[in-house]
Amino acid sequence: MSVDELYQELILDHHRHPRCNGSLDKPDAQSNIFNPLCGDEIIVALRSDSKVIEEIRFTGHGCSISQASASMMSELCKGKTVEEVKKLGDTFTSMMTGERKASDHPELGDAISLEGVQQFPARIRCAMLAWEALQQCLAKL
Ligand code: ZN
Repeated sequence: MSVDELYQELILDHHRHPRCNGSLDKPDAQSNIFNPLCGDEIIVALRSDSKVIEEIRFTGHGCSISQASASMMSELCKGKTVEEVKKLGDTFTSMMTGERKASDHPELGDAISLEGVQQFPARIRCAMLAWEALQQCLAKL
């Protein structure tokens, strides 16, 4: 299996079996983002003492990239500190803009499989949506 095929499989797997999917009771922060270009919507909710992301969940609808990215982001960020999560968001953003290479950033976990999306500029926002919602949540803590 080539790397491209492996990445495709990962995206499909997260789309079909999303991690951390569902709503969250009494979240400390929640954010809702809509991508009019593609019709994607992502709602991220989390519980945090403002130091650690204790629980994170997402709901939404839209294309497979947007939903898979939300699943990957949520799984990756659960249990991490706010500082770590901010850094992961910066790294993910620079991967999507081509400034950094996924192969140098294994800490992004399954989210490295989205690197190829940058070849389709109209879809980059789909991959970024969940991370934007996360940033908005962090700003509310
Ligand atoms: Zn989309």
